[in-house]
Amino acid sequence: MDLRIAFLYPELMNIYGDRGNILTLSRRAGWRGINVRVSKVSIGDEINPDYYDFYFFGGGQDKQQIVVSADLQGRKGDAIREAVERGAVVLSVCGGYQLLGDYYRPFDADDLPGIGLFDAHTDAGHTRYIGNVLIECALPGVGTIVAFENHSGRTYLGKGCSPLGKSLVGGGNNGEDGTEGACYKTAYGCYLHGSLLPKNPRFADLLLSQALARRHGPVELAPLDDRLELAAQAQAASRTRETH
Ligand code: GLN
Repeated sequence: MDLRIAFLYPELMNIYGDRGNILTLSRRAGWRGINVRVSKVSIGDEINPDYYDFYFFGGGQDKQQIVVSADLQGRKGDAIREAVERGAVVLSVCGGYQLLGDYYRPFDADDLPGIGLFDAHTDAGHTRYIGNVLIECALPGVGTIVAFENHSGRTYLGKGCSPLGKSLVGGGNNGEDGTEGACYKTAYGCYLHGSLLPKNPRFADLLLSQALARRHGPVELAPLDDRLELAAQAQAASRTRETH
């Protein structure tokens, strides 16, 4: 089996350890003998909606989101939406998540159009949500997720998508409705930096098995020894609870 990963805008949208998600997926696949190919897809690059199994879209400051939003309009955005309709998996974090919605309204600049993959919109607020977070994930078999957030954006979900989970500690989508992130088919958005996947192996394996299933059919991943990952998750979770 092999896995094709598209790393979207790595030089522009990659903060607070986001690249660690690509490393984690590559390692967890490699430990199961799965070949992984990571391709950087950036400004002006074309996307064939049938080629990649997994898309990663990290976070970025408003300044970077301006150029990325412009590049996503038209064929690029259409291709990403089409890829999801054909079973590709997307993990998007913060600034990337915001640009996969309908629009991001920065605090003091013009609206940045998104691609409407998620039925959601984001308005920047006066204050930033910064700190360690704890989520109860809505996806089967994942449970608790620990991570870090740093965003001014408040994201509001429409009926066309569902939350990734419930925010137990942290601002989550908007600091109001207790939700965190968004899910539409196998596309996921969240405010979860850190990086997210190293300390959340069950979520990593869910994404991996869904991405492999696109070309290889249903996949039963061989179990890994995740004692270290789960110990790190438990330690981060207890520290986050204590400090809130
Ligand atoms: N610029 C966006 C915001 O402030 C996203 C920040 C991020 O990706 N961490 O909300």
